[in-house]
Amino acid sequence: MHEGRIVRISGPVVEAKNMRGAKMYDVVRVGDERLIGEIIRLNEDVATIQVYEETSGLKPGEKVVSTGAPLSVELGPGLLANIYDGIQRPLPAIRERSGDFIARGMDVPALDRKKKWKFKPKVRKGDRVVEGDIIGEVEETSLVMHRVLVPPGMNGKVVEIADEGEYTVEEVIAVVDDNGEKKEIRMMQKWPVRKARPYVKKLDPEVPLISGQRVIDTFFPLAKGGTAAIPGGFGTGKTVMLHQLAKWSDAKVVVYVGCGERGNEMTDVLREFPELKDPRTGKPLMDRTVLIANTSNMPVAARDASVYTGITIAEFYRDMGYDVALMADSTSRWAEAMREISGRLEEMPGEEGYPAYLASRLAEFYERAGRVKVLGSDGREGSISVIGAVSPPGGDFSEPVAQNTLRIVKVFWALDSDLADRRHFPAIHWLRSYSLYLEEVKKAWESIGKDWLDLRNEAIAILQKEAELQEIVRLVGPDALPQRERAILESARMIREAFLQQNAFHEVDTFCPEKKQYEMLRIIILFSRKVREAVEKGIHIDDVMKMKIVETIGRMATIPNDEFESKFKEIEEEMEREFNELIGGSHGS
Ligand code: ADP
Repeated sequence: MHEGRIVRISGPVVEAKNMRGAKMYDVVRVGDERLIGEIIRLNEDVATIQVYEETSGLKPGEKVVSTGAPLSVELGPGLLANIYDGIQRPLPAIRERSGDFIARGMDVPALDRKKKWKFKPKVRKGDRVVEGDIIGEVEETSLVMHRVLVPPGMNGKVVEIADEGEYTVEEVIAVVDDNGEKKEIRMMQKWPVRKARPYVKKLDPEVPLISGQRVIDTFFPLAKGGTAAIPGGFGTGKTVMLHQLAKWSDAKVVVYVGCGERGNEMTDVLREFPELKDPRTGKPLMDRTVLIANTSNMPVAARDASVYTGITIAEFYRDMGYDVALMADSTSRWAEAMREISGRLEEMPGEEGYPAYLASRLAEFYERAGRVKVLGSDGREGSISVIGAVSPPGGDFSEPVAQNTLRIVKVFWALDSDLADRRHFPAIHWLRSYSLYLEEVKKAWESIGKDWLDLRNEAIAILQKEAELQEIVRLVGPDALPQRERAILESARMIREAFLQQNAFHEVDTFCPEKKQYEMLRIIILFSRKVREAVEKGIHIDDVMKMKIVETIGRMATIPNDEFESKFKEIEEEMEREFNELIGGSHGS
């Protein structure tokens, strides 16, 4: 143990002397109250420490003790349904002990030491195991079967394995003879948060992460293991979208990191999440969720810790062979924390005062996303998809955090305040958003509908044309446009209103299965082609748009998901018939 003395305090940053022998990133306890901090710079015997708790009242001369271990998280059953702060202190357990206010320097273990879990062994004495193999299972929640794995770096013969029964996370449940060395396995393991957990290899991100949101899945898909950014301008529907993704994404586990939205915004999440139900099972959504939320009395440095804590927990469930979705809300606040700490360290500032390493930190974080073959001899796959909210001041995307994020992520869902003002929800702008996974997920989508990508591209082309025509409409009004172009405007309107708009609060529309998304788009594009054909044959666009089918298509979204296949066939036939009558009826007139 290295015991030093505080020589300087600057907000959340503290300098201590006499720290020779301590290591970079060691966790230290600072001052008489034993505040938790981490060494972020070492110079001879002077350590610079970022402190994760309020430092007011701290005085020079107080002692600093290194724990000799890096910032780590506890991994094991009991993470799900829990709410942690950035350094993995369990908020509900703390509230029980000390009320709403976290006493400084308080030590509460992340995983309950007394709780007993029903463990079911999956290996037998004498079995050979390698790192990542499943040695047993625990029903962690109603939604997730927790797989107890041989920790990384351990291979050998099982010499002891616990019988089926109830055990705490600290009890030894297996012993492995690893080249003569007896190694114990417990349900709990520790892992340093700044070190990515190992896997066998990265796989192509060719499986879409289905969210049931049409504008996402069909237009700008995210792949399992992929990365996406979503801006968080106020009132544009960011919260609703993140909740929809948490509820509906076909991920087994959701990790929601509230990295430092101060005060109100975060308490909203803390209040709302525990009340949400998993729509597929009716069980509490928290049963597959880990929430990480800094409390308002934690300094900015804790935001940094919360991001790493979150991604490490995500990796732990990925390693079990599960799909994990991690939402970081918001990465801009995290970057601001980096800027503040960097300023206190008097580092050479980069763009707009952010440290020069901003880009590499962001890249390292997103790099921990991915679809991978995990450790273990059974060839399991797992994934972490990362969705980072970005909230640039004033919605200005030219600033460094947004720019660097856009350089890294492969999907951008551009929430647009004009669309939100017009109550077009989700307010994801179809011309400013993009996904670089289109080619990767194409195969998976083609098994739903062979011409998926063509239809999608045709829809975007119509919307692009609409944007060009709108300039003219603004000058001369729609009536001055040729019929052919008015047909495009009407088709675009139908794509926007009948397909892209989606009501998160409608019982049916809140989730749209892939097949239904495909069929809806197919019918709308078929319609648009027929409209063009009709006006070319001399039918007036107003007569086309008066047809009953127009209204029918507008209501497709709310047709129950178990009925749409038969109903959509009828709609297609109705469309055929009405167009035939319209075109046929006009002949000779
Ligand atoms: P933000 O978090 O960006 O400030 P919210 O997510 O709270 O904004 O959304 C603001 C309001 O917009 C919501 O209360 C809701 O009325 C509306 N809204 C947003 N998204 C949708 C959606 N997908 N469907 C219906 N209404 C929505």
